[in-house]
Amino acid sequence: MAHKARKRFGQHFLTDTNVLSRISDEIDRRSEGCGVIEIGPGLGALTEFLLTNTQTAAAIELDRDLVAHLREKYCRDQINIIAADVLAVDFQQLKQELGSENLLVCGNLPYNISTPLLFHLLDHIDAIKHMVFMVQKEVADRLTASTGSKQWGRLSVMSQRILDCQQLFDVPPDAFNPPPKVISTVVHLTPKTKTQPLEDYSCLQEVVKQAFSQRRKTIRNSLKALFQNEDFESCGVDATDRPENIGVAEFVRMSNHLARSRQAHS
Ligand code: SAH
Repeated sequence: MAHKARKRFGQHFLTDTNVLSRISDEIDRRSEGCGVIEIGPGLGALTEFLLTNTQTAAAIELDRDLVAHLREKYCRDQINIIAADVLAVDFQQLKQELGSENLLVCGNLPYNISTPLLFHLLDHIDAIKHMVFMVQKEVADRLTASTGSKQWGRLSVMSQRILDCQQLFDVPPDAFNPPPKVISTVVHLTPKTKTQPLEDYSCLQEVVKQAFSQRRKTIRNSLKALFQNEDFESCGVDATDRPENIGVAEFVRMSNHLARSRQAHS
C-alpha cells in the first residue's frame, strides 16, 4: 500500500527486520497468560512478526486509512483492529471484553504522545502485566532515571513508584522510514511486586506535579501552598531540596501526610 507518513500521527515505520525480530522476541517471552495489545500498528510491520510468534488479541490504530488497510490484510479471527485514539481507551474494559487474565501492551509508540500515553497507562495499571515499548531515548532515560539526576522528573516518580522499568536496547534512526531525529530505545515496564502504601493517588499527582512545575526552586517554595515547615519535618524531607533530589518514598510520605491532613479537616 502506498502510504505517505503523517507527521501529526507521529508516524515512523520500522523497516529493520532485525530490530522487529528482537522486539517481537522480547514480547513473546513475556506473553504467557496475557492478551497482547499492540498500540499504533501502522502498516503492520511489528504486527506481522507478532502474529507468527504470539497470539495477538487486538491492535489500536488512530489513522483510518491504516485501519482500513489492516482490516483488509487480516481477518477478524487473526486480530481485532480497533479504530480509536489510544488515549481514550479504557484498558480495564478492554481486558474484560477480551476475556484475558492480564494484558501485555506493546508497540512502536507515536512519539508525540508517548508521555501522556504512559500516564494514561499508569491509570489503568491494574489491568496490565507487561509493557514493551519503543520510545524516544530521552523518555526511556526519564523512565529509568535515578534520584538526583537531571532526567529525574514527574514521569520517573509516577512510573517508578509502581513499575520496574528497564531499558532493553537502543535503535538508531535508520531503522525507521521516515527516520526520526532522535535515537529510540525499547523498554520493558512491569508492575512491582511490592509498593509503599498510598493513601490518595490524586494527592500524589498534585504534590509531584507542583514540585516539578518549577524544577529550579526548592520544594519549600514550590509546595508552599500545600506544606508548612513543620509538615516537611514530620515527613522527614529537607525543605531546601530541589525536586530532583526527592525520591519516590519521600514523595509518597508527603502525599500521605497531605491526604491525612485534608481528611482531618474535612
Ligand atoms: N508500529 C508501526 C507504526 C509506528 S508509528 C511500525 O513500527 O512500523 C506510530 C503509529 O501510531 C502510527 O501508525 C500512527 O498512526 C499511530 N497513532 C498515532 N497516534 C495514535 C493514537 N492517539 N492512538 C492510536 N494510534 C496512534
